[in-house]
Amino acid sequence: MSLTIPAPGSSTSDARVRTYQVRTFGCQMNVHDSERLAGLLEAAGLVKDESGQADVVVFNTCAVRENADNKLYGNLGQLAPVKERNPGMQIAVGGCLAQKDRETILQKAPWVDVVFGTHNVGSLPALLERARHNNEAQLEILESLEVFPSTLPTKRDAVYSGWVSISVGCNNTCTFCIVPSLRGKERDRRPGEILAEIQALVDDGAIEVTLLGQNVNSYGVEFGDRGAFAKLLRACGQIQGLERVRFTSPHPAAFTDDVIDAMAETPNVMPQLHMPLQSGSDKVLKDMRRSYRSRKFLGILEKVRERIPHAAISTDIIVGFPGETEEDFQATLDVVEQSRFASAFTFQYSKRPGTPAAELPDQLPKAVVQERYERLIALQDRIAAEENARQVGRQVEVMVTAAQGRKASETHRLSGRARDQRLVHFSVPDGAEVPRPGDLVTVTVTEAAPFHLIADAAGPADYSVRRSRAGDAWDRAQAESCGVPSPGAAQGRGVSLGMPSLPVRSS
Ligand code: SF4
Repeated sequence: MSLTIPAPGSSTSDARVRTYQVRTFGCQMNVHDSERLAGLLEAAGLVKDESGQADVVVFNTCAVRENADNKLYGNLGQLAPVKERNPGMQIAVGGCLAQKDRETILQKAPWVDVVFGTHNVGSLPALLERARHNNEAQLEILESLEVFPSTLPTKRDAVYSGWVSISVGCNNTCTFCIVPSLRGKERDRRPGEILAEIQALVDDGAIEVTLLGQNVNSYGVEFGDRGAFAKLLRACGQIQGLERVRFTSPHPAAFTDDVIDAMAETPNVMPQLHMPLQSGSDKVLKDMRRSYRSRKFLGILEKVRERIPHAAISTDIIVGFPGETEEDFQATLDVVEQSRFASAFTFQYSKRPGTPAAELPDQLPKAVVQERYERLIALQDRIAAEENARQVGRQVEVMVTAAQGRKASETHRLSGRARDQRLVHFSVPDGAEVPRPGDLVTVTVTEAAPFHLIADAAGPADYSVRRSRAGDAWDRAQAESCGVPSPGAAQGRGVSLGMPSLPVRSS
């Protein structure tokens, strides 16, 4: 199906190509779903909007935050007059909030054309077409998954890395979480299908994949193989050309030694682990209906570090869960102190409508939550700075990313991710080869801050570049998008000349 509209005053035969924009809110799962949505729209003939005036605007929403709906309706409100001026424009709302609010969205924002749920992203092009043809808003929400999202076309944001869904939904019932009611029970993809998708990404130039699921280490529960996740990691280790494997998120309750062994023994599985703590208080964990306790959590970290000594471990923490006492909060601080997280996503608890925790008594005053939150941040920032300081002097391999640091134009540094996922800003010595996004550079860390490392090579001896297939793929993608390959592609080798299009350090 091709989604085109006639340009004003033209016949259908010279219909112009429509443009789209996908606006994403929320978690990594949504970022991944948005790549699918972009892929579906491109497969239907639309192109990504570069002008800020897309013909189709898709909101991929998140229901996790209390004010998520206000934000969505605010955004939709801003688009109402735009749509009035451009009658051919279409607006679609998908994701968790759509799954939850359904027709309410059309009642509150009748200028929306399509509302679709988390289980039917694949229907979007058909729904847009139907809305246009029937001149009537379309609402389609399925209660369960019909096509696994990863079997749909994808438009990846970065050619050098990709997300691969291994499961969707979750069988746990954490009381603060809306996922089980919106995404349903865990559904696992077959290993063969996952490995085929990874192979296709690698064939396309990717050298890094992140396996994605709400609870990756329970992968296999649906087809009765408790060891399936460890086996999947080991199978990733057999894929030629795949250099970096990551996964998110595991759950401490079901995190077993076979997974730690597979991580340690599979060279392309990166020394990095995101392990959500949520709270260090056993009482709060119980109230959250998280079935592990702080001792077990610390035990996992100990085992991981025993097998993978330089693993960078990150976490999620919620502050101010209903009924959390000062003593409970102290327990969280204690576990954070002992865990030595490289980084943490910290959240102030806020009621999520539709979750059991929203109904709990003893919701804490905002001022109490804020004050605890600030103490937690101060502690975690200190630990992150200390842990990063220990990296100074270490040699790290960095995969260069297209995104650059905020100060890149002043510092002329490029950026990338180390094997342990730490963000590294590095300089290219004068006259040295300039890497492309996707290439791998080896540099020595010279400075540390809480959220990044700096590697300023004193000279070419401290700096080397390994050109990768991912860098080649980047060049191809650039050439396809603008018809001009990067200097590196044209000459086989890019060299820092002090004024290239990629920012490099001039001195
Ligand atoms: S494990 Fe808990 S927090 Fe994670 S998706 Fe499942 S219910 Fe939500």
